[in-house]
Amino acid sequence: MDTARELSAQLATLLRRERSALAEFLVALADFDARRAWAELGYASLFHYLHRELGLSKGSAQYRKVAAELIQAVPAVIEPLRDGRLCFTTIIEVARVVDARNWEGALPRFYGLSRHEAAEVVVALAPHPAPPVRTVLTAVRGPGSAGSTVEPVAPPPGSSRSAALTPLTAERQRLHVTVSERFGRKLERLRDLRPDLSDDALLEAAVDLLLAKAEKRKGALTERPRASVRPSRDPRHIPAHVRREVWRRDGGCCQWRVASGEICGSTHALQLDHVVPLALGGESSPGNLRVLCAAHNLLAARRVLGDALMDRHAVPRARGAP
Ligand SMILES: [Zn+2]
Repeated sequence: MDTARELSAQLATLLRRERSALAEFLVALADFDARRAWAELGYASLFHYLHRELGLSKGSAQYRKVAAELIQAVPAVIEPLRDGRLCFTTIIEVARVVDARNWEGALPRFYGLSRHEAAEVVVALAPHPAPPVRTVLTAVRGPGSAGSTVEPVAPPPGSSRSAALTPLTAERQRLHVTVSERFGRKLERLRDLRPDLSDDALLEAAVDLLLAKAEKRKGALTERPRASVRPSRDPRHIPAHVRREVWRRDGGCCQWRVASGEICGSTHALQLDHVVPLALGGESSPGNLRVLCAAHNLLAARRVLGDALMDRHAVPRARGAP
């Protein structure tokens, strides 16, 4: 019995040390993220740094990234993590609803909970606990009079398309979008033709169609490439056979070399990058082209063209996206 007590005391000590080490790691990681030190090492995000440089699984990297971001917003999270009141596996749920304004009331509600129980608290605290299944078309009065056709316009500079997506639960999001009266009529017609599909299924099918078309254009592999290709006089034009060749050679993923010497490998928002920019006389040939993710394409352009020039063109990017 004495031995069992002693062993148990030893386990309790080890557990305290484990929690303490994790808390220390997360505090250091939050500081690392605040300095954007991952960008200095050539990574596109903190997530990529954790996954590629520290060798964490994607799941572990995601947990630690979310925790590091939460600690920056709500430093009070660290003590409950250290003393075990807050279980690390609930951190993603906690981050969904706890912020700098509500943490004093909201954070203690997660103490001692399992991940599953934490998810229930999120639903109770979240502004949209139950995802509505109805769709409402509301008329919005604008400068154009009713019935006039308005050409689609690009979103104003600085506006973010993704801002219109609000997470409701882990699986459901709400898309809030202002549409033209013309779009409303088309949607009504589609509803009549396909009464079997819900509105979100209709929209998803439309997005799938456009996506397939755009991805095909972007590069990549058509089943039967055209045999003859006319050379283009526009140096910005990248012929389809060149796109296909570069895409195939690079395996359809970002070729940027990160600090560890490996390639980035991201498949997010891929673009074809001119190693020597067109502005500096580079050609649209396979030897001068490579596949890069959006973050590394921007980084490459900054390195070659200089920050001052790029700041005039850069689009603000959501922080911390994996
Ligand atoms: Zn990349």
